[in-house]
Amino acid sequence: QEKDYQMMLRTRSPGGFIPPQLYLTLDKLSYQYGNNTLRATTRQGFQLHGILKKNLKATVAAIIRNMGSTLGACGDLNRNVMAPPAPFKNRAEYKYAWEYADKIANVLTPQTGAYYEIWLDGEKAISGEENPEVKVARLNDPNGTVIRGQEEPIYGNHYMPRKFKISVTVPGDNSIDIYTQDLSLVVITGTEGELRGFNIFAGGGLGRTHNKEETFARAAVPFGYVAKEEVYNLVKAIIATQRDYGNRTNRRRARLKYLIHDWGIEKFRSMVENYFGKSIEISKSLPEFRYQDFLGWNQQGDGKLFLGVPINNGRIKDEGNFQLKTALREVIQLFDLPIRITPSQNLLLYEIAPENKVAIEEVFYRFGIITNPEKIESLVRYSMACPALPTCGLAITESERAIPGFLERIRALLNKLGLKKEHFVIRMTGCPNGCARPYMAELGFVGSAPEYYQVWLGGSPNQTRLAKPYIQKLHHNDLEKFLEPIFVFFKNSRENHESFGDFCTRVGFEAIRTFVENYQSR
Ligand code: SF4
Repeated sequence: QEKDYQMMLRTRSPGGFIPPQLYLTLDKLSYQYGNNTLRATTRQGFQLHGILKKNLKATVAAIIRNMGSTLGACGDLNRNVMAPPAPFKNRAEYKYAWEYADKIANVLTPQTGAYYEIWLDGEKAISGEENPEVKVARLNDPNGTVIRGQEEPIYGNHYMPRKFKISVTVPGDNSIDIYTQDLSLVVITGTEGELRGFNIFAGGGLGRTHNKEETFARAAVPFGYVAKEEVYNLVKAIIATQRDYGNRTNRRRARLKYLIHDWGIEKFRSMVENYFGKSIEISKSLPEFRYQDFLGWNQQGDGKLFLGVPINNGRIKDEGNFQLKTALREVIQLFDLPIRITPSQNLLLYEIAPENKVAIEEVFYRFGIITNPEKIESLVRYSMACPALPTCGLAITESERAIPGFLERIRALLNKLGLKKEHFVIRMTGCPNGCARPYMAELGFVGSAPEYYQVWLGGSPNQTRLAKPYIQKLHHNDLEKFLEPIFVFFKNSRENHESFGDFCTRVGFEAIRTFVENYQSR
């Protein structure tokens, strides 16, 4: 008899878009076949955990029949395309970011019909469009056309050397962690708000392996500018360069960031130009990127409202008086609200008529859910952790289950040191793969052995700078002993309102180590 193999599956949801019908289906499937919870991911999809192999087909088929898909959410190809989740209707650049995230996802969808053959016995499926055809895009046709059994014009026979991550954002909005993506497009508009083209960033990526110096986290760098008419050709040229020159002998070094690191950006640009057939223009100037989570009530800009609902580490569950899953189901069912999953694992519910605000608040209140961001503990608000144990096979130690205790202890320590109102970005993962992007945090914990963490310091509050590894192994029991002298140094020597990550980078690790030694030998 076959073992009870259980699987995780995740949705393909460009820009984090989840129509209400799909959300309610996922909610139901999590009870029917999953572990009763849903998890919003750091790439704006939903994960279902604990699906037994025998239930996979029914689960995937239900997702496809309810306006969803799982195609390309895992594997060596373009993953879920990210976009800023804020549903601003009066800012054209946000509309373009959503539109191009969808179109690029379509252009890079595998052409194979096998997905539908396996999960739907080859039947046609419905899509989110009026057209009752499966939405599979043809090269150069981002609006989607059905083609079955075609060869893969972009991926070829062997697909990509490794996963490939793309985002589309707007100037100044770093909700998608732009420096962590293989490829990012930033919308450039003209004086009338019309779409002109995109600035391109390339070569970011966080996954690494402990004690293997040839692997490292890397921030993306500016690559150039492309007019909107040429954008698909440039994206394909970049993908083709990585497809043909990316490392296929060592998976640990197969991401685009290593190709760009080894070649240098100039050589990479000229190789891409060979595929593209012309020179790449220089980047347009951009404002600084900032991070905003949009929690609480916000104006959409068209008279309607959107509500950012905080989800700790993306886990949607019911537990005692905390009935988040029930509250979301009731609100989405009653008011038929679409969702955008945020890259920080929260949910934005939108298209809310102002007259429904009070009724929606009442539902959340009734089920014990705080939606007022001012009432959320600020360390918790800006933190993230990956699932790690017990669901992830790569986990070295705890993450999602450990971070609440870490945050409580850090808050108690800050209070004790007279840093009561202080908050900064804390992220944790159970292994160096870095799914919760700990290398961009001001304080990052990366599982390095059971109960031990590598500690990274020096990222920025807006995730615009990589942190650096400060120590290799911190036992969780030693958290306060380790952090106290660093926080004291921060309190004594910070400049103005300097944040913790900015402080660590400005003073440098040598100064921190010297202060810590003196502090400990007092
Ligand atoms: Fe698993 Fe590692 Fe990703 Fe955490 S960071 S979910 S432990 S692969």
